[in-house]
Amino acid sequence: MTLIPSLTLNDGHTIPELGYGVFKVPPADTERAVSQALEIGYRHIDTASIYGNEEGVGVAIAKSGIARGDLFITTKLWNDRQAGDEPHAAIRESLDKLGLDLVDLYLVHWPAPANDNYVHAWEKLIEIREAGLTRSIGVSNHLVPHLERIVAATGVVPAVNQIELHPAYQQRDVVDWSTSHNVRIEAWGPLGQGKYDLFGTPAVEDAAAAHERTPAQIVLRWHLQKGNIIFPKSVQEHRLRENIDVFGFTLDEDEIAAIDALDPLDGSGRVGTHPNDLN
Ligand code: NAD
Repeated sequence: MTLIPSLTLNDGHTIPELGYGVFKVPPADTERAVSQALEIGYRHIDTASIYGNEEGVGVAIAKSGIARGDLFITTKLWNDRQAGDEPHAAIRESLDKLGLDLVDLYLVHWPAPANDNYVHAWEKLIEIREAGLTRSIGVSNHLVPHLERIVAATGVVPAVNQIELHPAYQQRDVVDWSTSHNVRIEAWGPLGQGKYDLFGTPAVEDAAAAHERTPAQIVLRWHLQKGNIIFPKSVQEHRLRENIDVFGFTLDEDEIAAIDALDPLDGSGRVGTHPNDLN
């Protein structure tokens, strides 16, 4: 079974650098898909209350027989529950659905800046961590002004920022801020969600040929060598196996640089919603 390396977060806890994300895994298929991922060797699962599939994740965990300490489970607070005491109610509902006493990582899913509750939500996540309902806390889709504001208000730096990041959209300003503040980057949509022809670019194709690997493995390897935490999504067994098999080779500096150069730098590579527009 593949041994997945871990990274240390700024709060001292560790996180497997590769996991399985279940965005758009249908609730009815989640138990099967997560069970299969756990059997293959995945130990880090990324879900969210808005995905509607926390119960399926929980059933797969319970049936797996894997020791809780060997698993890393993330879930997220949805935008409509940032105000008042809603975050406390939301984490308890998530834990109930997951069948867990605590998660390893709880994230503010989006800043939703038009509602102007994200600083409050961050304060509530700090309380939730203090209450022992999550080991680590972090944010998602936070841009530099959002990050600066929550840190200025609380003095607490998130353990991670989970952002859209793939070769055509590398968000270097957010990555630079995060690196200089010891915040780990989790790259969502690591394969660009299949929304553009990433696998057909010469940078990816040439490296795939040179290493006798698939284009997806080259892109995932690029993320790992950049220090990004990733959890590619698939519901197909052969892809789950392919996506975890990325530890037996190394891209050289030129191959990394060729993939670095795939970002047009004008923001046009983004495949998801801009964080200021999702409220
Ligand atoms: P992804 O880049 O992982 O793309 C998933 C798609 O890529 C799959 O539907 C499949 O069609 C294809 N794919 C997967 N493995 C492949 C392979 N080996 N070869 C060819 N094609 C392959 O995108 P994603 O699912 O959006 O992102 C991964 C995870 O990130 C999600 O499951 C979720 O956990 C998280 N996420 C978080 C946010 C957020 O706002 N925080 C947003 C989107 C996703």
